[in-house]
Amino acid sequence: MVRKLSGTNKKDILSLEFSELENEILKLAEPKFRAKQIFDWLHVKRVSDFGAMTNLSAQFRERISSLFCIKSLFALKRLASEQDNTVKYLYELDDNNRIETVMMEYEHGTSLCISTQVGCRMGCRFCASTIAGFKRNLSPSEMLLQVYETERLEGKKVQSLVLMGIGEPLDNFDNVVKFLKILSDERGKNLSLRHVSISTCGIVPKIDELARLKLGVTLSVSLHAGNDRTRSEIMPVNNKYNIGELIDACKRYFDKTGRRISYEYAVIDGVNDRKKNAAELYSLLGGQNCHINIIPVNKIKERSFTSDRKSANQFKKYLESFGMNATVRRTLGSDINAACGQLRREYEV
Ligand code: SAH
Repeated sequence: MVRKLSGTNKKDILSLEFSELENEILKLAEPKFRAKQIFDWLHVKRVSDFGAMTNLSAQFRERISSLFCIKSLFALKRLASEQDNTVKYLYELDDNNRIETVMMEYEHGTSLCISTQVGCRMGCRFCASTIAGFKRNLSPSEMLLQVYETERLEGKKVQSLVLMGIGEPLDNFDNVVKFLKILSDERGKNLSLRHVSISTCGIVPKIDELARLKLGVTLSVSLHAGNDRTRSEIMPVNNKYNIGELIDACKRYFDKTGRRISYEYAVIDGVNDRKKNAAELYSLLGGQNCHINIIPVNKIKERSFTSDRKSANQFKKYLESFGMNATVRRTLGSDINAACGQLRREYEV
């Protein structure tokens, strides 16, 4: 694979929504339909070079390539699980930063887990993505390219998407929304946003902003504790927006969008795995139309948190004793460190 360095002062054309591309084309005094042609080359045919856009005149191709660049990702490493069909990529960005993307096979199709930032500033104690801090936000094009490039390299079409890789999606709100608009554009990949989940540690004002946009995405909330003392210990964001404020925002999200919230609960031995912790969840969420997903915490080498499938199943039973349903998430790709941020840490520059 040839590594391409994109021009730094050229505009990133893959990050433009259709209407923005149309405006750029009109500014160049070209007919509007050129925007549709270019959008198709970029997001359907997915060429990496303006030279390949053969229905544009050579002169116009030269003109746009002097003003815009088509970004690319470089696959530094591919890890394939021997246990299941999970594949993980370590991608290098233009500025040598690295991110991770994971492709998973489920009964209902192919799902992709993408990163939204380089690093993360949220500081969750159990998470590998946050240990070296935050470097920068990803652009819409860098999120799109994780989809396009992984589809190309694996020869598969992505049917559903989770924003659960490195980073906090709601901390890169505008770029994430723009990315979703491009991805769901019927002139492009045309992915239904009903097949997209955004995972958040709980940035309350941004949950409300997302609800107002009514994109139809599922909101996945990383709860991990049902009392403020424990949650603040493992998730510093809780000091800013506590559990009560978070649950209220989730109720507003459901009321506005009709989309059921999915709560994530990573069971950690000796921290949040007791029956009384299940009782806390019952008093918080009992009666709410939501889904609870229990995950055994993934051990990362920098931290001592542990749990296993047994503790996760036991916690599920505790919840059931209160009449609450929950699923225990299948752990895919555990042999390739598929939990977010672990691969990047091994290859940190
Ligand atoms: N910042 C977002 C999305 C990225 S993390 C968020 O907090 O939701 C994606 C999910 O993986 C979150 O639920 C997060 O809490 C969880 N996670 C992170 N590290 C983990 C680990 N070591 N074991 C289990 N789950 C982990």
